[in-house]
Amino acid sequence: CGIVGVLGNHEVAPLLVEALKRLEYRGYDSAGIATVNNGRLDRRRAVGKLVNLSDLLVHDPLAGKSGIGHTRWATHGAATTVNAHPHRSGHVAVVHNGIIENFRELRAAVEAAGLTPESETDTETVALTVRMLMDQGASPVEAARETLKRLHGAFALCFLFNGEDDLMVAARKGSPLAIGHGDGEMFVGSDAIALAPMTDRITYLEEGDWAVITRRGAMIYDEAGRLANRAETRIQIDA
Ligand code: GLU
Repeated sequence: CGIVGVLGNHEVAPLLVEALKRLEYRGYDSAGIATVNNGRLDRRRAVGKLVNLSDLLVHDPLAGKSGIGHTRWATHGAATTVNAHPHRSGHVAVVHNGIIENFRELRAAVEAAGLTPESETDTETVALTVRMLMDQGASPVEAARETLKRLHGAFALCFLFNGEDDLMVAARKGSPLAIGHGDGEMFVGSDAIALAPMTDRITYLEEGDWAVITRRGAMIYDEAGRLANRAETRIQIDA
C-alpha cells in the first residue's frame, strides 16, 4: 500500500523504514525492504507493524545504499511473510501498490516457461515475468518495460535489480507515484510526504508513465515510450 525507493549515498535500510513509517497512515498488514549491496540483491520481510521489520533488521541487518521498501495491504493472498513484498525472482525485486488484474494469465505464461511462484500474490507474477524475459536475454530495463506493457490493472511499481547498484525502474498506472531529486541521490515514493526528510524536489509521474532512475537523475517516458517532460516542483511538508 506504500512504496519507497532510494538510490542513496548512505546506508539505506534505516531511510527506507523511516519513509515507510511516514506511509503508515495508509494502513498495512506487513512490510519489507530489499537492498543491493555491492551488486548483491537481498531482502527482509515481516508480518505486522513496522517495528517487527525493524527488529528483524537488528538481528539480521541489510547493508547497501540502494533499496526499495513496501507496506502491504493484502488484496491477493493472506498477510504472511511469503506474500509480503518485495517479491523476488532471479535478478529482480519488485514492490507494488494496487492490483494486477491479469495475474492468472501472467502466471500461466511464467509457469509454461518453467518458473514456479512461491506466493499467492498478483504481484509476484510481475517479478516472474521480468525474470522470464531476463532469462531470455532482455536487459533489466527492457524486461521491465516489456512486462509493464503486459500488465492490466491499477499499479504503482518500483523495480530493483541484482548486479545493479545504480538502477531503479518505476511505473505508475492508477496509483500515484512521486520521484524525488537529491544531490547525487534519487528517490521514489507513493507520495511526497514519504520523501520529505530526504528531499523537497518532486516530480509526479503521470498516468502510464515509467521511469529509468539512476543517481544522476530520472529519464521519464510516457506509455507509448516517448521521452516525457515532467516538471520538477518544490513541495512544502514538515519533515
Ligand atoms: N495486490 C498486492 C498484494 O496483495 C499489493 C497490495 C498493496 O497495494 O499493498 O500483495
